[in-house]
Amino acid sequence: MKWGVVGASTIAAEHMIGALRGEGGTVAWVMGSDARRVADYASMHAIPNSGTDLDALLADTSVDAVYISSTNEKHLPQAMAAIAAGRHVLCEKPLAMTVADAAAMVSAAAAKGVVLGTNHHLRNAGSHMAIRALVRSGRIGRVLSVRVHHAVFLPPHLQGWRINDASAGGGVIADITVHDADTVRFHLGEDPVDVVAMAAASGMGEGVEDSVMSVWSMPSGAQVFAHESFTHAHAGTGIELHGTEGSIIARGVMTQRPVGEIELVTAAGRHTVPYSAHNLYAQAVKRFVSAAYGEGEPAATGVDGVKSLAVAAAVKQAADTGRRVAVGYGI
Ligand code: NDP
Repeated sequence: MKWGVVGASTIAAEHMIGALRGEGGTVAWVMGSDARRVADYASMHAIPNSGTDLDALLADTSVDAVYISSTNEKHLPQAMAAIAAGRHVLCEKPLAMTVADAAAMVSAAAAKGVVLGTNHHLRNAGSHMAIRALVRSGRIGRVLSVRVHHAVFLPPHLQGWRINDASAGGGVIADITVHDADTVRFHLGEDPVDVVAMAAASGMGEGVEDSVMSVWSMPSGAQVFAHESFTHAHAGTGIELHGTEGSIIARGVMTQRPVGEIELVTAAGRHTVPYSAHNLYAQAVKRFVSAAYGEGEPAATGVDGVKSLAVAAAVKQAADTGRRVAVGYGI
């Protein structure tokens, strides 16, 4: 698979360029908005072509697929251009700034016959795959509740648009709640019905929220509590799923790396759950490439991206209005 990278970003530099080069892939292009910076970025990552013009990248007919990791407000126009040019698109979360725009991306990809994937990395983690398998096998019985702990400290090099630019998609809800929505949907196999929420600026956010707590109701009757933040240096992350027959307690697993511990607690005692420690992003690319070649689907499809964004949008609306908000999926 020959890739064009759209967005001279940190996530591409730290995780995705390496992952795209797996499975025999090559990265042929990188596109950014600053000519000098993107040329330096291309040189640093040994990418042969670079520029500020997406059309030039898309005019290279040898490029099979595009990975988009620009700031959030650029995802829609860049993805639409790539889809119109007949390229498969792996796009970062949130897919777009609104649910309607994300749904339009899904429709456009379907009409053009190209694959659209959303880079929700957590469902590619061995830890989360093991948790999901336990839930699906009935080991904890009927799920009663889920608690997601995803309050972290945003490192200084990421404290740009995320903490001060709503027009670029800043704020913890667009950044992290959207991942937690995807992860809970992955584990439970159902989509939240409605949500309540309160958000706060607790020391980092400048005009956008840096912390949020929300409660979601699920069609099965299960309740979900989610806590996301940019300001918690020592809280650690985790997810707990509590069922009628047992609980799954996972610590340190809401992360980009294949780390953390999972414990299954039932009447029979406490058991450590083993899992595969593969690279999350490599797994995401592997699934996407297979889908582009006609086998299966991306780990998180475009529809998953729309639905996870819809939950995050409902959490934002609930926090802004102080009301209980029904999730509008738009597809
Ligand atoms: P960055 O801030 O690193 O990059 C986003 C854009 O900002 C770049 O495309 C670039 O614009 C510009 N930029 C970056 N660094 C500089 C700089 N030093 N000087 C000037 N401009 C700069 O964002 P992230 O990599 O953290 O996030 C990008 C996207 O990826 C977001 O949509 C985010 O939500 C998503 N993401 C997903 C993760 C996941 O695990 N799935 C993890 C982290 C982020 P341009 O390209 O136009 O030049």
